[in-house]
Amino acid sequence: MNAWRKTLTAAGRPQTRAEELLVETAPARRILHVDMDAFFASVEQKDDPTLRGRPLIVAGSEKARGVVAAASYEARAHGIRSAMPTSRALRLCPQVLRVPPRHERYHSISSEIADVLRSFTDRIEPLSLDESYLDLTECCLSRRTSLQTVAREVKQAVREKTGLTASAGGGPNKLVAKIASDLCKPDGLLVVAPARVRDFLHPLAIERLWGVGPVTARRLQAMGIRTIGDLATRDPRHVEGQLGRLGIELHGLALGIDERDVVTFHETRSISAETTFATDQGTREPVAAMIASLASEVAERLDHHGFAARTITLKIRYPDFTTVSRSCSFESRLLNASELTARALELLGRTEFPQRAIRLVGVGAAGLVDAERPVQLTLPFDSYCDAPRISPSPSASATPPREPSPSASATTPHEPSPSATTPHEPSPSASATTPHEPSPSPSATTPHEPSPRLAQTAQT
Ligand SMILES: [Mg+2]
Repeated sequence: MNAWRKTLTAAGRPQTRAEELLVETAPARRILHVDMDAFFASVEQKDDPTLRGRPLIVAGSEKARGVVAAASYEARAHGIRSAMPTSRALRLCPQVLRVPPRHERYHSISSEIADVLRSFTDRIEPLSLDESYLDLTECCLSRRTSLQTVAREVKQAVREKTGLTASAGGGPNKLVAKIASDLCKPDGLLVVAPARVRDFLHPLAIERLWGVGPVTARRLQAMGIRTIGDLATRDPRHVEGQLGRLGIELHGLALGIDERDVVTFHETRSISAETTFATDQGTREPVAAMIASLASEVAERLDHHGFAARTITLKIRYPDFTTVSRSCSFESRLLNASELTARALELLGRTEFPQRAIRLVGVGAAGLVDAERPVQLTLPFDSYCDAPRISPSPSASATPPREPSPSASATTPHEPSPSATTPHEPSPSASATTPHEPSPSPSATTPHEPSPRLAQTAQT
């Protein structure tokens, strides 16, 4: 997401028509999903030419009740899939060759791939050893090149460096990029222009949609929804009535709206400090003093690691153990303790304190970036595929959807917050707390929660 769209979204919905226009005319993002083809198996076939062109599994032994970590395309032709027991793979294809996994080798090649990807952008979100999202918006805009051209270069560079093929899917958001790369395997390239997103998504089976596992798929099918297009044409209130908040999120995705950021390594981390008061506090002075002390500790640790933070979170636990978080994001860096303190105290004003006393208070910094990293600028140039098609982003006027995660942290005593289990590191997703108060920080959308679909597909 470019800088000023993020700034506007961070401040909430656009307030004026001028702000709406700025958001609507923002150049669409260029997101690429790069996925190595049958990665472990391809590495084995590259290293040992006698394995090439043959059905091969990388798997633990049948006797040790091993499972398939990866299957070559020749093995897949026999119905063998990742995560299948080795014994079953052998039954499906008795002549299949089995080699044990060599994880060090895969890590080593994975870091070579990461080097290649970093030569295009530093906006990289690795999902596994062989899969990453890249935000190539700045790269395309500054080079005045289409996403398709850059994607072709990425594939070529990966192949030259490693001798392996990757599939690449591109689009204005992660949802489209991931589905596109899945659909064009192996060794494919599929870039979906913003204006084509709905045509691309709507004929696809509903299971393709991010967040739709077998259970949700069955519920949607019971509603007569079989394709993404079926869902898109339903009244969102009806879908919400059936599936709750998840229904609204899925409906937005079905319309091609997905504002999830590409979250780089540093942004997935947070630094925080919290403390429980000896007695519940109902007056401002001791609470403010503690917030200042915690903010100062967080600032020191940021400084120590050479980080700056874009998101600050205040966590509050009331005497009945209800826990809430409030957060906000800024483009400008929050470098020192006094800035962190000032923002945290502002956030305190958005809690029920002092009407309710406070049992615990925490201050967290997330959206971490290298303190030295220069700010990147966006150029006013917009082209997407090789045949330039200039159009507003489909996501332009959209509310940033939350990931269909158990957004949880609106904790109740009966449902402990995930952050409560990690007291020293409240997730930035904690800001997704109270369902009635949307987080001002789109970047704070659950970066720790991998897509359920991604989790299901072991190696592709
Ligand atoms: Mg793969």
